[in-house]
Amino acid sequence: MEKIKLGISTCLLGENVRYDGGHKLDRFLTDTLGQYVEYVPVCPEVECGLPVPRESMHLEGDPDFPRLVTTRTKQDMTDRLVKWAQRRVAQLEEEGLCGFIFKSNSPSSGMERIKVYNEKGMPVKKGVGMFARIFMEHFPLLPVEDEGRLHDPKLRDNFIERIFALKRWREVLGRKESRGNVVDFHARHKLLILSHSPKHYQTMGKLVAKAKDLPLTELYQKYQTLLMESLYAKTSPRKNANVLQHMMGYFKEQLSSDEKQELLEVIENYRKEYIPLIVPITLINHYVRKYDQPYLREQVYLNPHPLELQLRNHV
Ligand code: SF4
Repeated sequence: MEKIKLGISTCLLGENVRYDGGHKLDRFLTDTLGQYVEYVPVCPEVECGLPVPRESMHLEGDPDFPRLVTTRTKQDMTDRLVKWAQRRVAQLEEEGLCGFIFKSNSPSSGMERIKVYNEKGMPVKKGVGMFARIFMEHFPLLPVEDEGRLHDPKLRDNFIERIFALKRWREVLGRKESRGNVVDFHARHKLLILSHSPKHYQTMGKLVAKAKDLPLTELYQKYQTLLMESLYAKTSPRKNANVLQHMMGYFKEQLSSDEKQELLEVIENYRKEYIPLIVPITLINHYVRKYDQPYLREQVYLNPHPLELQLRNHV
């Protein structure tokens, strides 16, 4: 697979672009995820023409429509940043991004819970950074996260699963349009979708079943929207345990009663959060190879992203 293109707030790559002349290098993003990703850096404040170092800024006014204002001299930077951001998101369309990682807590780049100050100088954490808002409105289906939230293993797992899935979907989009390509993609992603959202699993199954009744463009658009929505829903030990038990059904004939018992115990221990997901997944992968189970062998759920990222190793 080619590298995945992700937008990122420039300071997270270690570039000295912050208002104080510093950076916010995140080693997981550069050294670990960076092996699989080509980053497209975006620093709203520097790219809209402000110097380094510069006066710090914050959001103020109505939390739904805040202004971006310098903290000491009270210069209003809103129009300047908005005009630049509208041009920049149009350029970013050409990049084929599969997601964006924002810098948390920034009045320009933060994606949620950004402080907005009222006229008395009191903050409420209800704002969205000026550029982040315009980006998310322009690309509503793209996976986005901030580096702070990515320290949570579950959110990290979810985000990385989504960017890898979108990259695979983009590869389908890069081929000649055909119903067969959508059906094939869906067949390989069924259990991954089920682990996130049983409701979407049903809806998408029905959509694919009547693929030949729909115009191709409509099929692609509907499928893409449902795919991104489904993977946005969080997995849980209960949902994953259901998928694992479902997979176990494919080995009914081959597993000995001891092997069945062991697999059931491993799944149950995972469901109770005593052991990480990688344990039952490894055992099932072992049986998939041993018994050469063709349907499961193709399931992305068993290998949704590189093992080296260690995303399923937490409880
Ligand atoms: S948070 Fe955003 S605006 Fe601030 S330095 Fe980082 S990339 Fe630039």
